[in-house]
Amino acid sequence: MNYLYEQQVAPGQLIEVADGIMWLTMPLPFELDHINLYLIRTNEGWVVVDTGIGTSKTKALWEEIFSQLDAPISGVIVTHLHPDHIGLAGWIADTFDVPFYMSQTEYFSARAFSAGSSGASKERDKRYFHQAGLDSSMINQLTAGDNKGYSSVVSPVPLSFTRLRHQMTLDLGGQQWHIIIGKGHSPEHACLFNKEKNILISGDHVLPIITPNIGAYSTEPDANTLKDYLDTLPQFYDLPEDVIVLPAHKLPFVGLHERVEELIAHHNEHIDALLVACQKPQTVVSLLPVMFKRKLGVRNMVFAVAECIAHLNYLISKGLLARRLNDLGVYEYSQTQVKQLAG
Ligand SMILES: [Zn+2]
Repeated sequence: MNYLYEQQVAPGQLIEVADGIMWLTMPLPFELDHINLYLIRTNEGWVVVDTGIGTSKTKALWEEIFSQLDAPISGVIVTHLHPDHIGLAGWIADTFDVPFYMSQTEYFSARAFSAGSSGASKERDKRYFHQAGLDSSMINQLTAGDNKGYSSVVSPVPLSFTRLRHQMTLDLGGQQWHIIIGKGHSPEHACLFNKEKNILISGDHVLPIITPNIGAYSTEPDANTLKDYLDTLPQFYDLPEDVIVLPAHKLPFVGLHERVEELIAHHNEHIDALLVACQKPQTVVSLLPVMFKRKLGVRNMVFAVAECIAHLNYLISKGLLARRLNDLGVYEYSQTQVKQLAG
């Protein structure tokens, strides 16, 4: 795997990563402190791919970017519903009154999350964490918010959209962009491939160095998102090995096939390690150190628990693990049969 650059572009600046494609970054107030966004030059203007989190700081940086462009914005594409991607999509699409593109499941999920769940019971969230084996003080910390986190960093999602479908070809002002749907990190994540330019905009589905979070959250605790992810990774072997990958985090790179292989191997390692640990009954909390070597803070705890559950759900779906509620109402996972792991 080779990176095309040694360091990130500074916020507010543009780098032409390929003919007619600009790379920019926006800051994020998280451990992962940036997101990469892309601009595609078409006959009709610039199409924005992902938008950054919806804060006044990001807006101000976008204003700087807009002033540097030689043509108006002509469309907004969002790869998936996470706030760092969709945050300012509504603002940009409505400001320029341009088409807004998203896959259907991502779009309606974003609409639902934007509507918030204030007033709804937190009992399901608390049960989800309790069943994972977290103690009550941690559960209280994790469920203390008002559940309006999403809409506080996402500008209102446009009320209409243009649907991106798997395998469709999207015509952007004469350019042909092939849509490839990946699942697992989010429900219907759109990746964009341009054959002439030999470019893949991979969003969060394929990232270098870091692995996309694959989780089963309280919204769907039994989700088998790891199966979704592993099922939708091999299709990228069909793309050219030398395709330039423009990811949503870290640096643009070449070496897609190798990276896909690494991502699959990474999850297989976790699967194997969890299965070995479950030779005796385990809870999600007792299994966290099997998957995560570093100490987990409160914020990372949500992602870690969800990622662990996704792996356990996958093993249950394969018939390799069984899950039962113990007397404390906590799930215990154990191997369905004591077996030696092959390879
Ligand atoms: Zn994401």
